[in-house]
Amino acid sequence: MPIDFNLSPEVEEVRQRVRTFMDAEVRPVEEKLRQDKADRNAYVQAIVGLRKKAREAGLWNPHLPPEWSGMGLGPVAMAFVSAEAGRTTIGPFVINAQAPDEGNMHTLLHWGTPEQKEKYLRPLSEGQCRSCFSMTEPEVAGSDPTLIQTTAVKDGDDWVLNGHKWFSSGAHGARFAIVIACTDPDADPPQARNSAFLVDTPTEGWEIVRDVETMAGPANHPEIRITNLRVPADAILGGRGEGHRLGQYRLGPARLAHCMRWIGTAEIALEMLVDRAIKRYAHGSYLAEKQAIQWMMSESAMELYIGKLMVLHAAYKIENGLPFRQEVSMAKVHVANALWKIIDRSIQVHGALGYSTDTPLERMMRNARAARLADGADEVHMQTIARNVIKTYEEDGNTRAATGDLL
Ligand SMILES: Cc1cc2nc3c(=O)[nH]c(=O)nc-3n(C[C@H](O)[C@H](O)[C@H](O)COP(=O)(O)OP(=O)(O)OC[C@H]3O[C@@H](n4cnc5c(N)ncnc54)[C@H](O)[C@@H]3O)c2cc1C
Repeated sequence: MPIDFNLSPEVEEVRQRVRTFMDAEVRPVEEKLRQDKADRNAYVQAIVGLRKKAREAGLWNPHLPPEWSGMGLGPVAMAFVSAEAGRTTIGPFVINAQAPDEGNMHTLLHWGTPEQKEKYLRPLSEGQCRSCFSMTEPEVAGSDPTLIQTTAVKDGDDWVLNGHKWFSSGAHGARFAIVIACTDPDADPPQARNSAFLVDTPTEGWEIVRDVETMAGPANHPEIRITNLRVPADAILGGRGEGHRLGQYRLGPARLAHCMRWIGTAEIALEMLVDRAIKRYAHGSYLAEKQAIQWMMSESAMELYIGKLMVLHAAYKIENGLPFRQEVSMAKVHVANALWKIIDRSIQVHGALGYSTDTPLERMMRNARAARLADGADEVHMQTIARNVIKTYEEDGNTRAATGDLL
């Protein structure tokens, strides 16, 4: 397989534009908000202003085709755009490529009927509304969606939904939710039990019980009670029994998009580590001159490098229609753990300052912990990876196809 590490001029141009925009427009605003310890309202106002500028600069919906006001970028170009945006906290919102909306837009684009696209994708792509994805439930393991207890029962032409969800990120203020519910409890295989529904929110029978407060604070991950919620037959997204496939389809590129943003965050943490180490003097030399600190830098550099290669290769596979699940799972586990370790090392090198709220590191660390759980816990991805390794060995007599299929 030929390997060309050069970026096309178009991708390089987009990356530079996003980088310049994030550095010149987004970072100064974000830094000021952080210093002012601004409230949520101030952040929202800032994002609204920056979104206008992003649209004027042609940096809007990088992940969508032009007919949906998008830049029409493929997964490889998106890897660079998301990593640049991920170097800030609000950058992904500013270009309308934030989770969970980005994943929901992809899902609607791929699975929606023309009517569903006009009703839900159009306003989302125009930045006129937000959405949420409602699958996980408190009572059963989110890692195994075949256990979902929320039901959807046919009543005439309508479906009636009942159930209990939580961690539906963004549900407060969302105009609609994609809700995964069990429509066919006896289906074989069990993956065919669930269907996806488009639910306009708020609506009768959709009760936000509370915002589940996390270690990152109240971050809009609500618990929701669904009681006799009635939707019409055409609210099904992607066909009856397709809920599991739709979730898997959505989560593949969405997981990679997370990795791309995390790479941007990890880069910032490493840059802060180096900046501190070359300026802090102790025991006769700068921290950067001490081997213990240099090893932290080398380990972080290697982890980042591996992560970037993994993400780019997985993006390449998606872009070229090749099987990508194994590569996305491996990238997800590696980058989520690298993110955590690199931020931790940066905090260590900052000493007491790193533990304080005077730098963004403590917030980065609290947010980073979710990376090893959300969109599939480490252990679940590792199980999938190992299964593929065994299967490949049994079929091919070697493990190459399950280890990137490169050499
Ligand atoms: C910040 C954040 C945002 C989220 N946003 C959303 C959202 O928008 N929509 C949504 O529907 N969900 C969302 N989630 C939920 C997330 O998808 C689930 O947390 C995840 O799927 C795991 O499910 P669970 O929490 O029920 O853990 P469980 O399934 O109970 O798993 C708990 C632990 O058990 C272990 N485990 C599970 N299965 C295996 C296995 N096969 N082998 C070995 N160990 C195993 C793992 O260590 C795992 O961490 C979010 C979660 C977080 C933290």
